[in-house]
Amino acid sequence: MTAATLVHEFVHIAGAPGGNSHAAEKAAGKCGFKPQYNPLILGSIEALGKQLENLA
Ligand SMILES: [Zn+2]
Repeated sequence: MTAATLVHEFVHIAGAPGGNSHAAEKAAGKCGFKPQYNPLILGSIEALGKQLENLA
C-alpha cells in the first residue's frame, strides 16, 4: 500500500491533476498495483494542502 501510494503521488508530481481527476490512482493501477487500486479515490494534493493548513 505504501508503494502504491508513492506511485500515486509521483504521478501527481509528474503532472497528473488533483481535484476531481482520477488520473493518478488509475496510473498506479496500471503500474502493477491492481490489488491496491481504489476506483473511488480522486486525486487532490490541493485539498490535502488545505487540510494541513487547517490543522496548523
Ligand atoms: Zn491523488
